[in-house]
Amino acid sequence: MATEPVSTSPATLEVVIAHSAGTCFGVEDAIEMAEAQKKPILGPIVHNPIVVGHLADQGIPVLERYSDLDSLEHEGIDEVVITAHGYPKELKESLERRGIRFHDATCPVLLKWVYGKIRTYEAQGYAVILVGNPDHAEIIASRSYGNGIHVVYSPEEVEALPDDLGDKVVAFCQTTITRERFENLVAEIRRVKVPHLEAVDTRCKPVKNQQNAVERLSQWADAMIIVGGFDSSNTTNLARISRRHLPDHTHHVDSVDLLDPAWLTGITRLGIGGGTSTPKEQIQAVQRRVGELHPGRVIYRREERDGELVKDDFGEDDVV
Ligand code: SF4
Repeated sequence: MATEPVSTSPATLEVVIAHSAGTCFGVEDAIEMAEAQKKPILGPIVHNPIVVGHLADQGIPVLERYSDLDSLEHEGIDEVVITAHGYPKELKESLERRGIRFHDATCPVLLKWVYGKIRTYEAQGYAVILVGNPDHAEIIASRSYGNGIHVVYSPEEVEALPDDLGDKVVAFCQTTITRERFENLVAEIRRVKVPHLEAVDTRCKPVKNQQNAVERLSQWADAMIIVGGFDSSNTTNLARISRRHLPDHTHHVDSVDLLDPAWLTGITRLGIGGGTSTPKEQIQAVQRRVGELHPGRVIYRREERDGELVKDDFGEDDVV
């Protein structure tokens, strides 16, 4: 009896890079400033160990973000770099008073847009609530540019808000939070404290683009690899978004060495995303490694803004 020939060749793997994966303009400008100035940086310039390592290789020291300023003076440090996350207003003033010059790499999205909104709304008599991680450098800095800003990141913190916030209350959010978390906490504030709360989504454009791209791609792919630092808020949120669609097939890595060949078994569509602090070279290294690990043919594409897939400039179109 004739039998169908059994194919033993491994399946073709289509690898798609999420739209706008990798470093945003704010991070690129901050790295450029740090490399140009070669002065000590107050905290990691971005939450990415590879970037921090590259700067260390150039002899650029990373100090405690909220260093004791007496010690800085004592050590003769008279110039520092402030990271893209921003720096508290009173600490900047303190640096100025001590004659310590600072090169300010605070992202313009924060300096001009978020701090500007805080000032404008407060001038109109609004109480401001920031929805974000109270321990994150961005939120610590942003709240210092207002008067008595409240910060919430959980239903318990919403419950602890004062009952008398007034007639005019507005909520803004950390630039890297997920829209879902912002909406849920806004709904909670309206439910338990301030029914008339106004809310403005202050996530920045690069973060919105990346979150939308990962949301889209993780519904197309069989598996996703999210590349970036484990302490990077925006990268961690991309992995969280992907896990909603691929709970068992989302892999967050901060190094190409963590890639496991087993992740490629039995899949034909792989999506790759990277946070705003992830250098594009790190994403390319993951692409390259996937090509080495997959036993069959690999086709590389990248996603355009509208989700259309186009040939990726990376290497060859097809790697066998
Ligand atoms: S993630 Fe957004 S806010 Fe942060 S540095 Fe990049 S552009 Fe600026």
